[in-house]
Amino acid sequence: MDEDFWKNKTLAEMTDAEWESLCDGCALCCLHKLEDEDTGEIFFTDIACRLLDTSTCRCKDYGARAKKVKSCLVLKPDAPEVFAWLPGTCAYRLLADGADLPAWHPLITGNPDSVHEAGISAMGKVTSETVTTEWTVLRKLGD
Ligand code: SF4
Ligand code: SF4
Repeated sequence: MDEDFWKNKTLAEMTDAEWESLCDGCALCCLHKLEDEDTGEIFFTDIACRLLDTSTCRCKDYGARAKKVKSCLVLKPDAPEVFAWLPGTCAYRLLADGADLPAWHPLITGNPDSVHEAGISAMGKVTSETVTTEWTVLRKLGD
């Protein structure tokens, strides 16, 4: 991968490896969401998709995710409208909006755990939908 490729390429120009490396592994997009009927605001709950390994924040079947979970957000550079469903910390959303990667991003730190150490990710905060249906709100979409 080119050094600092995210500064020199558009999302559409990136290789598959570069594209995938933008994901910081926060798993926030793998949480169920709630919409406030009155305000239209959307919130992430602490209930995770059945395919999320909540101990690692990784998908248990990433290759078949779209087939197995219809609501899975499969991101593509030519479908930026989907980015609106991502948290404000997500690299795809940040770069699409012309912002830079945050200091805690694994591509900046060289440490895949830096997203967890910074408290950004879902690690330690969520439960699988296979275990419970009781939820609380974690954060507002976009925060
Ligand atoms: S919200 Fe963005 S950075 Fe986090 S897991 Fe989803 S795609 Fe990756
Ligand atoms: S299928 Fe995998 S990538 Fe998609 S929401 Fe579920 S855990 Fe996340």
